[in-house]
Amino acid sequence: MPIKINVHQIRENKSGQVAGRFTLRPEELELTSPKGVWHPLTFDFTCTNAGDLYVLEGRLESSTSQQCSRCLAPVEVPLAASVLAQFSPYQHQESEDCCFFRGDELDITEVLRENAILALPVKPLCSPDCKGLCPQCGTDLNQGQCQCKPKAVDPRLAALAKLISK
Ligand SMILES: [Zn+2]
Ligand SMILES: [Zn+2]
Repeated sequence: MPIKINVHQIRENKSGQVAGRFTLRPEELELTSPKGVWHPLTFDFTCTNAGDLYVLEGRLESSTSQQCSRCLAPVEVPLAASVLAQFSPYQHQESEDCCFFRGDELDITEVLRENAILALPVKPLCSPDCKGLCPQCGTDLNQGQCQCKPKAVDPRLAALAKLISK
């Protein structure tokens, strides 16, 4: 089911506004996350008749459960995005920034989906100073030191070691 805003009541009313809130399940926006889980989303919006186009402004909020990109611990990542989009009933105005629509309804599904995905952090962290896992034994270094000797490798030696291992 596409997510739609009906602008019928402001169609003839320049600078007229409709406002509201959607509560959405992630499935409604076809959101998937390979390593995480999406939680329900809310979208608070106003939609304004700006003459020959409609301006949609709103705030999309949600959260996802992800894995810390360093230590793999589960992390709750809050998400928030400011949404700004334009819709035009005139096909010649259609562009990357302006969606064409017919009738009385703006289909905002794709706009919301894109904004939700862009708000996802590329590398979620459980804390900004997460120490991660030991690259040698896999110990979670946030829990304590392991017995591995830190490898302080001279970059020139590293290059050499790479050559030798080939
Ligand atoms: Zn971490
Ligand atoms: Zn170790």
